[in-house]
Amino acid sequence: MSKLACSCGNVISDVQCPNDVSGWLLSDKSGEAFFTAIHDTIDDYLQHAERGDIAGWRRKHFNDIYPLDISAGHMIHDVLTSRLFDLTLATMECERCGRIWVQRTPDMNHYHAYSPDDSEDVRIKLLGYNEASNEDSSRTKP
Ligand SMILES: [Zn+2]
Repeated sequence: MSKLACSCGNVISDVQCPNDVSGWLLSDKSGEAFFTAIHDTIDDYLQHAERGDIAGWRRKHFNDIYPLDISAGHMIHDVLTSRLFDLTLATMECERCGRIWVQRTPDMNHYHAYSPDDSEDVRIKLLGYNEASNEDSSRTKP
């Protein structure tokens, strides 16, 4: 997606990358599948490496035009990024009215709008650089 015409008349654009208007929605079930893919992908790579068969791992995930001079970390990144995009719904946030537009399915260019109940004076911007403050002692670290 690059531009979306919001119901309020605003045009939401995610042409700039990264930006504060687009993101992804990952359900609990899809999140579980993605987190499983992380360790499965890494374990599978390491097993291929132990057998000296990185080429076999590459053939499993990439076609012949994929560059040969890519690091292991970058290849794993590319596999997992693809999996993440297969499991998430793209979202866009209107900075004018606060609507969140959510993709219907990961492979469909059709969006549904969800409008906030909050009035404009108490509404908060949701998308941006979202990171835990790590000041909450109730969170556990692995
Ligand atoms: Zn809007």
